[in-house]
Amino acid sequence: EEEFTERSQKVQPSATLAVSKKAKEMASAGYDVINLGTGEPDFVTPKNIAQAAISAIESGKTSFYTPVGGTPELRSGIANLAKKLTGQAITANQVTVTSGAKMALYALVQILVNPGDLVVSAKPYWVSYAEQVNLAGGLFEAFSDDSSAGKLTVGALNQLKQTPKLIILNNPTNPSGILYTKDEVQALLDWALEHGSFIIVDEIYGRLVYNNAVFTSALSLKAIAGSRIIVVDGVSKSYSMTGWRMGWAIADETVIQNMNKVLGHMTSNPSAVSQAAALEAVSGDQSVVEEMRRKFEGRLNSTFERIEKIDGIKLAEKPEGAFYFFIQIEDWLLQKMKLDSSAAFAEKLLDDEYVALPAGEGFGMPGYLRLSYAKDQASLDKALDRIEHFIHNA
Ligand code: PLP
Repeated sequence: EEEFTERSQKVQPSATLAVSKKAKEMASAGYDVINLGTGEPDFVTPKNIAQAAISAIESGKTSFYTPVGGTPELRSGIANLAKKLTGQAITANQVTVTSGAKMALYALVQILVNPGDLVVSAKPYWVSYAEQVNLAGGLFEAFSDDSSAGKLTVGALNQLKQTPKLIILNNPTNPSGILYTKDEVQALLDWALEHGSFIIVDEIYGRLVYNNAVFTSALSLKAIAGSRIIVVDGVSKSYSMTGWRMGWAIADETVIQNMNKVLGHMTSNPSAVSQAAALEAVSGDQSVVEEMRRKFEGRLNSTFERIEKIDGIKLAEKPEGAFYFFIQIEDWLLQKMKLDSSAAFAEKLLDDEYVALPAGEGFGMPGYLRLSYAKDQASLDKALDRIEHFIHNA
């Protein structure tokens, strides 16, 4: 044990990946498992995007390292897309491209968080925020007040005894699909700037909002130059490109330069082939995003209706973005089933009904399950049938 570092020992394995792993093992052993545990769209990457990668391979764009933060073409393409979506002028030098948004977040935590620094986020939170901060020796704290349905609020920030070095805001959120209003985003940005905190706004699900809800990008509210606002995004979720590992950060040039300094020793550069694909994604036909968004919307609405009808589980509110439900298991149901936690519930659901859902424990909030609707409607319906059956027979 002691041959491995203390910091690596402190890291918890990803709860979402653990459930997926068991589900995959059961599936390969022949069980009819429905895995609603993962955060990956089930659509094939659009053809024009895949074709751009094929062309890059065929024309030999694979035998060199690109600049650390991505090709100038891709950085410009991302800056242009950001301008189109938010109205804010962004330059290529305010962009760095990474091997997935996760790597952008990792590099940011590495350059911003000293041991003992406070980093705050909303609860429930995406697991990797906490573990990336742990790895850097920072202090991760997550808050939500009951009235805010899991949102980070200025009220909660005002109660802190130590000024956070960094605030990590996810909008819309994984795991609960909650969307912050324009005023809420504005207030949090203002608070961060007033207190000298950096604020990362993770907008990876920003284009996946439903039923006419309006997403407000932090970029649309404030200029990036000279500010401590950093926006993280990527192609994984909106273009169904999780396997390509392409994400980015948009920030003041000094932040980008510092990120590139550490990224140069971590990855050298993100995959050249994937960059060619991402360039087509951000600069090509954007209707592919809308097509997938509409499919998610249909699934959200039909699945929501069914969840609402099942006794023993409930939702605080109807999600407006991302592709998850964060479902509360009512206490009486756990008691009736003689289960002492949502993790135990999730395990039994997988064992008895072959439905895989990660439990709330991994998101800092026991008593819940996360259900991803990045899955075809037939599988969703079947999974809901099984969940109903599981609860009715409890
Ligand atoms: N941020 C959030 C909130 C996520 O849910 C994910 C993926 O699950 C990521 C960032 C990272 O995405 P990627 O590394 O695939 O770009």
